[in-house]
Amino acid sequence: MSDVLALVREDLRGFAGYSSARSETLDGEIWLNANESAWANAADDGASCRRYPDPQPAALREALADLYGVAPQHLLIGRGSDEAIDLLVRATCTPGRDAVLVTPPVFGMYAVSARLQAAPLVEVPLLDDADAGLVPDFAAIGEAAIAHGAKLVFLCSPSNPGGAAIAPDDIAALARRLDGRAIVVVDEAYGEFSEVASATTLLDAHANLVVLRTLSKAHALAAARIGVAIGDPALVEVLRRCQAPYPLPAPSVALGVAGLSAKARAATAERVEIVRRERTRLQQALRELPGVLRVYPSQANFLLVRFGDAEAVFRALLAAGIVVRDQRAARGLGDALRITIGTPEQNHRVLSVLAALSPSPACGGGGGVGATARAGGA
Ligand SMILES: *Cc1c(COP(=O)(O)O)cnc(C)c1O
Repeated sequence: MSDVLALVREDLRGFAGYSSARSETLDGEIWLNANESAWANAADDGASCRRYPDPQPAALREALADLYGVAPQHLLIGRGSDEAIDLLVRATCTPGRDAVLVTPPVFGMYAVSARLQAAPLVEVPLLDDADAGLVPDFAAIGEAAIAHGAKLVFLCSPSNPGGAAIAPDDIAALARRLDGRAIVVVDEAYGEFSEVASATTLLDAHANLVVLRTLSKAHALAAARIGVAIGDPALVEVLRRCQAPYPLPAPSVALGVAGLSAKARAATAERVEIVRRERTRLQQALRELPGVLRVYPSQANFLLVRFGDAEAVFRALLAAGIVVRDQRAARGLGDALRITIGTPEQNHRVLSVLAALSPSPACGGGGGVGATARAGGA
């Protein structure tokens, strides 16, 4: 196993980052070293925001380490996993030279961060398997990563918007193939909803592996902006030096710690169970509808669905006040919408709108989505 620091930009290897007042190891009673206010803001009841926050607060770090089953030194906490994606690209890709590999159709932030860093983007499209759905083409990914000098390979598991999860063995094999050449990043934003094991179990064996997790989805704290990169401690340290001095607002940290209490975690687990049940129910119900061409298998909290007339479906849902994600601009998904699993009541409303849109076969057509799809012999 080679040293992952060799994959960090040469010009950043000795970079110490910003030296904040907070990071000095001084001790005292009266803190007059950071130009903070000596008095609290009138609105700041607990005076919790008067001073700059701890950059990586121990209580949150320990709660997250426990949640993900790793040692705290493997964690970098940031403003959502979006920040972790950006830090990884900035720390490893020399602009104009080192590439970022992505597997479209996939979450757009990898390409955005690559663009901002002027890192060439290498695209290896997902394969559309009749049973498994949208899955990575591992042979092509390994080949392209080497051929184009990719420093980062972003995999999404479960994949957004595809919904399929990646088996740990496949991730391990790719990390081995790219050892010393690239970091394999596994974005597990939807990991809680999946039956496939987390790639964190592979970290000890692969220094060039990073796993991204977030409190934004299953933990219902999207506005708190808390996400993590989990990886080799030496790499975590480099990312921390590239990060803003005080990335985590104190109110978010407090909410994050409270949101990971035993009680809150138990409630999260219950919500995840509801989502999984509803996912199965919605999947089955959608497959019965005549206007639905395909419902992809999903390990996440959404379903990717192809429609005979996606435009009509999108507009009908919108007219009923239901906003879903239009995926028609994504590669190979010209007729697809992504529907987040809602409450049972919300899902019921989605199904009612779609059922009303599809003329029942007994009525003998009359246009609409159903007619289009039936013509395909579904
Ligand atoms: C939602 C999402 C994220 C964003 O997570 P934050 O922690 O809120 O920044 C990351 N990756 C994928 C694939 C997502 O769908």
